[in-house]
Amino acid sequence: MIAYLRRHLGIKLFLSYLIVILVGVVILASTTQFALPGAFERHMIRMGTGMGPGMMGAPGAGLGQAEELYLNFRASFNEALALAVFVSAALALVVSMIFSRGVIAPVQAMMSVSQRISEGHYNERVQVRGEDELSQLARRFNTMAGQLEQIETMRRQLIGDVAHELRTPLTAIKGSMEGLMDGVLPASDETFGQIHQEADRLSHLVDDLQELSRVEAATFKLDLRPVAVVDLVNSALGRLSRQYEEKGVTLTSGLPADLPLVQVDEDRVGQVLLNLIGNALQYTPAGGNVQISAVRDGDEVRIMVTDTGIGLPAEHIPHIFDRFYRADKSRSRRAGGGSGIGLTIARHLVEAHGGRIWAESEGEGQGSKFTFTVKAAK
Ligand code: ADP
Repeated sequence: MIAYLRRHLGIKLFLSYLIVILVGVVILASTTQFALPGAFERHMIRMGTGMGPGMMGAPGAGLGQAEELYLNFRASFNEALALAVFVSAALALVVSMIFSRGVIAPVQAMMSVSQRISEGHYNERVQVRGEDELSQLARRFNTMAGQLEQIETMRRQLIGDVAHELRTPLTAIKGSMEGLMDGVLPASDETFGQIHQEADRLSHLVDDLQELSRVEAATFKLDLRPVAVVDLVNSALGRLSRQYEEKGVTLTSGLPADLPLVQVDEDRVGQVLLNLIGNALQYTPAGGNVQISAVRDGDEVRIMVTDTGIGLPAEHIPHIFDRFYRADKSRSRRAGGGSGIGLTIARHLVEAHGGRIWAESEGEGQGSKFTFTVKAAK
C-alpha cells in the first residue's frame, strides 16, 4: 500500500488535499466545541427569550428548553459539517484528478520517451504544450534527446570512417604479403618498402586518432603564457626546413617588428603551425613558395600560411576542417597525403585558445591561404 502510494503522484496529490480538509475540519470542530455553548447562550439572552443565564445545565434544572434547543442546534451543525466534509472530499478527488492529469501526463510522456531513447530510438521527442515549468522541463528534455541523437550519429560515423581508413592500408599489406607467399611478388627491397610504408601509414593514423580523441574530449590542459610569434614560427621553420629543401619549395617568413606577444600554449600552437606548414609543403609542387606572415588585429594576432600550391576548389573549403575529409582522396594519397585529421585537430586546438581558423583559395592551382587567430597577451 505504502509502496503503491510512493509510486503514484495522483494519489499523493489527493491525499494532500484530504489532509488539508481534515485539518480544517478538526480545527473547526474543536473551536466550535469550545466556543459554541457560550456563544449560543449569549445570543439566546440577547433574544430575550426568558431563558436566563445559568439555565443551560443549571443544577436541578433538568433538561431545560434552552438546552434541548442547543443540543438540536449542535446536531444540525454537526450534520452540516459532515456534509461539508463529504462534499469537500469529493471535490478534492475531482480537483486532484484534473490537476494530476495535467501534471502526470507530461511526466509519463517523458518517462516513455526516455525508455524508447534508452532502447536506441534516438529520434523520439515529447510533445510540448504550454509555458509552465513542466513544459520547460519537456523542452530541455527534447534538447537533451537531440544532443544524444547527434552524438550517436557522430559515433556511428566515426566508427564507419575509422573502419574505412584502416581498411585501405590493411588491404595493401595483406595483398603484398599474399603476393610474397604465392611468389607473385619478388622478395625485394621495393616490396618490403611498400609494406613498411603502409604499416607506417597505419601507425600515423592510430597516432592521429589518439590525438583527435584527446582534443575532441578536451581533456588536455592549456599552459597559457605570453609567447613571441617569431619564436613560434622559428621553431616550426627549424623542424621543417630540411624537408622543404629536399622538395625544392622555398619557405619564407615576414613578421612585423611591433607584433605583440601572444597568450598561448606554445606546444599546442606550435603543433597547429607545424600542421599548416607541413600541409603547405605537401600540397605545393617543387619550385613553389610558402610564406608565413602575421598581423595584429585588435586584441588578436592573425597568423597566416600562404602557399602557391594546388589550391582548393570552393566547394571543399567549408569541409576541410571536418574529420577524415580530403579535398581529393586520390590526389591526397598520391601526394602522400595523410588521414584528413590534421586540420580537425588544428581547429580544436585553435578553438580551445578562443581563436578561429579558416582557409581561402582562388581555386584549383591557385594556391591556398590558411589563417588562424590567437589572443594578444595583455
Ligand atoms: P591530410 O592529413 O589529408 O593532409 P588535413 O586535415 O591536414 O588532412 O587536410 C585535409 C584536406 O585539406 C587535405 O586532404 C587536402 O585535401 C586539403 N588541404 C589541406 N591543406 C592544404 C593546402 N595547403 N593546399 C591544398 N589543399 C590542402
